[in-house]
Amino acid sequence: MNTKIQEAENVLLHTYARYPIVFDKGEGVHLYDANGKKYLDFAAGIAVCALGYGNKTFTDRIKQQVDKIMHTSNYFYNEPAIYAAQKLLEATGMERVFFTNSGTEAVEGALKMARKYAHEKYGEAKCGIVAMNRGFHGRSMGALSVTGTAAYREPFEPLVGGVTFAEYNDYDSVKALVNENTCAVIVEVVQGEGGIHVADQSFLEGVRNLCNEKDALLIFDEVQCGMGRTGKMFAYQHYGVTPDIVTCAKGLGGGVPVGAFAARGKACEALQPGNHGTTYGGNPMATEAVGAVFDIMESEHVLDNVNCVGTYLAGQLDELVRTNANVLERRGIGLMQGVVLHTPVGEAVQKSLEKGLIVISAAGNVLRIVPPLVVTEKDVDEAMAILKSII
Ligand SMILES: *Cc1c(COP(=O)(O)O)cnc(C)c1O
Repeated sequence: MNTKIQEAENVLLHTYARYPIVFDKGEGVHLYDANGKKYLDFAAGIAVCALGYGNKTFTDRIKQQVDKIMHTSNYFYNEPAIYAAQKLLEATGMERVFFTNSGTEAVEGALKMARKYAHEKYGEAKCGIVAMNRGFHGRSMGALSVTGTAAYREPFEPLVGGVTFAEYNDYDSVKALVNENTCAVIVEVVQGEGGIHVADQSFLEGVRNLCNEKDALLIFDEVQCGMGRTGKMFAYQHYGVTPDIVTCAKGLGGGVPVGAFAARGKACEALQPGNHGTTYGGNPMATEAVGAVFDIMESEHVLDNVNCVGTYLAGQLDELVRTNANVLERRGIGLMQGVVLHTPVGEAVQKSLEKGLIVISAAGNVLRIVPPLVVTEKDVDEAMAILKSII
């Protein structure tokens, strides 16, 4: 075994079954390992590196900010955070934002906001949270409590109380759980980790109406499907259904660790000074990256590219479904696609890596395809040739 990998195994907690590759640098949609082998990256660091690697405008802005100032704490204001907030609110249609360091922490904040809103207005009994089976919201105790995969939760129980799980895209199952004591419903508009499942129009509309009826806050977790990945800045914009709170991370910083939760209307006043905080969240280095991602998505017409190449990719994958008996189904929107195989995808991912294509798995039997949003049709052709040869 590579000695670097041996060293890693001696010092890091064994929380991941990593592939035996040490990545060294990236350029565009390609990564290079320590031996100089080139990979076409259709995983983007789990839907994070929206602009690919080494976009010069992006890295220059971060470098300049690093030279100026990286951190001030939230006792003070800083300009990059104000600009990033304005851009995020414009893109989401929300009214206030709180910057975090990760997606998990954005979910934590959203849950606290919903709990506090209901607690203040109705008292402690209105604390119930309805989440979805197969949903994924992160690994901290609160975010884990609403994550719909029992195997992730069970070793850490007891978790946050009051959480019940409905079936995704099954309105009646949500209706059966939402009542006067529900303070929030949390849903991914496109489930990512759970296997790339896209919400139905009537499901989201129904859940929105239920929340309105019971004065529960609707939280859309757009950590994975947001920031342009589906061809709109946020996936709920395909539906015309607006949440009370939206969570965002992954693509938000283009590789710089940053997340956010944003809210509108009545939810915005729930968290007051002393109710919530973070040391790092919204620091000028991270938020300069956020502002730069928004600016570059605009100037480089990234959404147009997602729509164009996303449609092309979906067409190519549909062709694979038609022509390859090992492929069951394609699911997804834009550049968030899942290819469902009859068997676990571990071996396919491994073979793909050997041939220089990075794809990742979701929910065991789904190949998750979430390339940088600047990928081209030619890159798709190259990836498809490899996929065809291994499946
Ligand atoms: C990845 C993910 C999270 C957790 O984000 P981290 O940055 O890993 O903490 C939460 N929700 C969804 C939908 C995700 O895909």
